[in-house]
Amino acid sequence: MQQNLILTDAGLYCSAGDFFIDPVRPVERALITHGHADHARAGHGSVLASSETLKIMAVRYGAGFAGTTQAIAPGERLSVAGVGVSFHPAGHVLGSCQIRLDFGGFVAVVSGDYKRQPDPTCAPFELVPCDLFVTEATFGLPVFRHPPATGEIGKLTASLGLFGDKTHLVGAYALGKAQRLIAHLRESGYNRPVYLHGALEPLCALYEAEGVAFGPLEPVGGRGKELAGEIVLCPPGQLTDRWARRFGDPVTALASGWMRVRARARQRGAELPLIISDHADWDDLCRTVVETGAEDIWVTHGAEDALVHWCRSRGLNARPLNLAGYEDGGDGETVGIV
Ligand SMILES: [Zn+2]
Ligand SMILES: [Zn+2]
Repeated sequence: MQQNLILTDAGLYCSAGDFFIDPVRPVERALITHGHADHARAGHGSVLASSETLKIMAVRYGAGFAGTTQAIAPGERLSVAGVGVSFHPAGHVLGSCQIRLDFGGFVAVVSGDYKRQPDPTCAPFELVPCDLFVTEATFGLPVFRHPPATGEIGKLTASLGLFGDKTHLVGAYALGKAQRLIAHLRESGYNRPVYLHGALEPLCALYEAEGVAFGPLEPVGGRGKELAGEIVLCPPGQLTDRWARRFGDPVTALASGWMRVRARARQRGAELPLIISDHADWDDLCRTVVETGAEDIWVTHGAEDALVHWCRSRGLNARPLNLAGYEDGGDGETVGIV
C-alpha cells in the first residue's frame, strides 16, 4: 500500500486521498502537521490541521492564508476520499501533530517534527503504532543527545546570579522555543518579568489565548541598559544584530539542539549555549522507531543516513526520503543553518 504515498516536488503526496502533507508549494488540498514556516505555507486551496496550527498560520500569514480551512481535533477520525485520517500530538510546538493514514488496514504515520522531552506548552507526543513510519531526523546522529531542559535553564539562572549587572539576551525561535523557555523558567521559580523582542510578541499572545500561562511578559520597546540583570528573549538572528547593542555588554545565550556543537554556538554569537531542542534526539528517534512497531521506516529532514543505517541493522526496511524545501523558515531547527 506504500504506493499510496509518493514523493513529489511539492512534498509527500497521498494519491488515494489526493492530498499533500506539509507541501512546500501551493496545492489544492494540504494536511499540515504544525505551524513552522517550512511545513505550513500560505496559498493552498484547502488546509486540514489542528485548530492551533490554523490559528498560528493566521497570525503569520493573515486570515486569508488558504481558500478554506478545516480544524481536526486530536484523535478525531475523518475519511478523505476513502483514506482514514487522524491527527495525534507530536509534542513539538503548540498544535503540532503526527498524521495517521489508514489505507484499509495498512497504517502509515507521518511524524512531522516531534520530541519526547517534556514541554509545558503543548500536548505530549503520542505513540501511534503503524506499519510505515515517516520520521524526521533533524538530529539523526548519535552525537546529538539533548540533556534535560531543566539543567539548561539552570545554567541561565546561574549566570544571572553571577552576572546580575548584565542583561541576559537569549536567542529563541518565535514559534515554540521562546514559549517553552519562558514556561521552563517559570517552573524553575523565576518570576521576574521576561522581556520580549517585538517579533516574539504575537505568538506568545496566541499561546496565552490558548491557555498557556507565562506570568509577567513585557515588550522591550525602546529600553536598553535599564534592563541590566533581566532576561530578554529575541529571535536568534538578533543576537549579532545592531539591535543587541542597546544592552551594552549583554550575556548572549541561544537555545537550540545545535548548541551541542561548540563551533555553531560561537558562530551564532552565543556565549552561553543552551541545548534545548524541540526535536527528538538520537536516542528518542531510535526508541520511537522501535516503539511504533513499523517495519517500514522513511527518514526525512536532516541526517537521514545514520538513522537509515541503524534501522537496517535492526532488520527494518528503511530508506531516506530526500524531501526538498524543508529549511530553516526563520524559526525551525530543521537544517543546520542555526
Ligand atoms: Zn517544526
Ligand atoms: Zn521541520
